[in-house]
Amino acid sequence: MTLTRNTPLTDLPGVGPQRAKKLEKLGLRTLGDALEHLPQRYEDRRERHALRDAPEGRPCCVAAMVAETPRVSYVRRGLSLVKVKAVDGADTVYVTFFNQDYIREAVRRGESYVFYGTVERQGNLFYMTNPAFEREGAERFTGRILPVYPLTAGISNNLLAGITRRAVDECLDGLPEALPAQVRKEHRLCQTQFARKSIHWPASFEELALARRRLVFEELFVLTCGLAQLKDRRGQSAGRVLPGAAEDFAALLPFAPTGAQRRAMEDIAADLGSGRAMNRLVQGDVGSGKTAVAAFGAWAAAKNGAQCALMAPTELLAEQHARTMEALLAPAGVRTALLTGSVKGKERKALLAALAAGEIDLVVGTHALFSQGVEYHDLGLVIADEQHRFGVAQRSALAEKGGSGAEAAPPHILVMSATPIPRTLALIIYGDLDVSVIDELPPGRTPVTTLLVGEDKRARMYGFVRRQAGEGRQVYIVCPAVEENGGGGWEETPGMDLKAVTAYAKELRERVFPDLRVGLVHGRLKARDKEEVMTAFHRGELDVLVSTTVVEVGVDVPNASLMIIENAERFGLSQLHQLRGRVGRGEHQSWCVLVTASRSETARERLRALCATNDGFQIAEEDLRLRGPGDFFGKRQHGLPQLKVADFAADLELLKEARAAAEALVAADPDLKKPAHRLLKKRVLQLFDENAELFN
Ligand code: ADP
Ligand code: MG
Repeated sequence: MTLTRNTPLTDLPGVGPQRAKKLEKLGLRTLGDALEHLPQRYEDRRERHALRDAPEGRPCCVAAMVAETPRVSYVRRGLSLVKVKAVDGADTVYVTFFNQDYIREAVRRGESYVFYGTVERQGNLFYMTNPAFEREGAERFTGRILPVYPLTAGISNNLLAGITRRAVDECLDGLPEALPAQVRKEHRLCQTQFARKSIHWPASFEELALARRRLVFEELFVLTCGLAQLKDRRGQSAGRVLPGAAEDFAALLPFAPTGAQRRAMEDIAADLGSGRAMNRLVQGDVGSGKTAVAAFGAWAAAKNGAQCALMAPTELLAEQHARTMEALLAPAGVRTALLTGSVKGKERKALLAALAAGEIDLVVGTHALFSQGVEYHDLGLVIADEQHRFGVAQRSALAEKGGSGAEAAPPHILVMSATPIPRTLALIIYGDLDVSVIDELPPGRTPVTTLLVGEDKRARMYGFVRRQAGEGRQVYIVCPAVEENGGGGWEETPGMDLKAVTAYAKELRERVFPDLRVGLVHGRLKARDKEEVMTAFHRGELDVLVSTTVVEVGVDVPNASLMIIENAERFGLSQLHQLRGRVGRGEHQSWCVLVTASRSETARERLRALCATNDGFQIAEEDLRLRGPGDFFGKRQHGLPQLKVADFAADLELLKEARAAAEALVAADPDLKKPAHRLLKKRVLQLFDENAELFN
């Protein structure tokens, strides 16, 4: 039988309908699929020793002849042993298998086998427990580096390894090479066939490293080629001209903008005046003053008769932004409105009508801003705030909302992010955007002091809360709780249920701080109630605000000076940093207290890292290193395709290299029209196709 990459796995011996179903669970239907199914680790089974020379405490292969018919004994219900006695020259090894009765039939007296496992020695006797084994002379899984695959119930590693062995032996001819020869040469990358073979069945770890490097590069290269093309295309798409001078706007602000804020505004002014569509990311740590920069954009749009939509991740934040924008921009004649999911009925109807008629210049809201039925008169600018989970797709969807009849140009897009994304990663996630960085905090800030405390300090901590309140300051107490995802999407932080948070707030209110004004806000509250509590806190009518992570992003109450985080070990570092950013926003010395009862040294280590620095970038890098990109961003929320081989955290250097190569290539051949780029183009299109919801 000739096998090809299209051969269904059911054509292979040993794969019946039952197994085929299970294999399908792993996404495997054909041999080609199996080639794409990468090992998660490798077992070095190359070393073979005589029993008496076997290394101590680590596995190796030994060859021995079975000397007696294996014996089964039943120790107790659910536990059986098969004992096999085998000899290697003058030495004897007793091999024990637990709960593998079939071995009695599988192993024959008088036959030689290779066993792979750890040899234990007691005097002159040798023992092995549950080794892998196969007949000597026909080794397939021993004597080499064995790939260990992600599995599913009912599928053994040997079965999968057998499949990939055949696939690499018989189906690699004519495997298309997507990397242009020039790129391969320049970046010293091995050929695709070699890489595919060696990622499964490497002859050495050097070979494996070569293979992996090539596959990682390829994956990142295809992705970044796609992003570079996207950026290139966007860069050429016409944008309407919305002139406005940063200095004219600065006169409206109640403070002098920092140099970094001014530079970001000038970048935006240049984009808006360029005649091309703006696609810009403004990155700045929490408290760096991104809101004022966003306001500049809204102001410039309104000044030119275009509308602006400002999208926030939560209703809470949208409400706050609406207030801030109104205060800043009303004097300049900008008409601001708030549109969230909880604006309903008549009110909503009137608002939508006004929006469609162009009677509103700036509309602030959640994702509801782009739901069906929302029509703009003339949308010129879309601003997405605190959307570090806001991927390429969402941005593209927004672009389509604009371009009202007469003006075909898509709206300008401005994304604001409190970073905590390591720089290199941002290059990828926002690979199709231009970037302005606000790397300077407004003057007069004293850095937040962060402390790690255990339960034994709780009474003292409450005393501290009372002292702060006595001085007129305000306090946040954040509890981890499972929040409903209202579509705006904050992450779930496993922790107390809402009942427990409510009970905790009650206890604080009634027993601990009967003399203080204690409020509670969480994601399940009705929007109106939520707003009421937040407004009260804003106005200084509450001393203590107990909350779930709804205050994580963007909430701005400069009088708050103390942030207490309960069960701090439950949060990611970047999330803690975000929470901490809620204080230290005014002139007062501020504190962040991380409360943990955790005894785990790793957990405490992590939290100490946060106490040691206020630098969001550094924390993001640390977070990424500790948790890996999956957890760092939440499930696919970064809006990028799932990577198969590459690991954002571990492969940063290669990422930079691939990205530079991709940009050079796309600059020279924007449409990938050259014959040498034909396959690459196909791969990019395929990637976009498979992730149609992300790109376009
Ligand atoms: P973020 O970048 O986290 O969104 P904000 O825009 O909410 O930060 O700004 C944080 C606080 O700093 C706000 O209270 C804001 O009014 C204030 N602020 C912003 N820029 C300046 C400035 N240049 N000088 C003084 N205060 C500023
Ligand atoms: Mg903000």
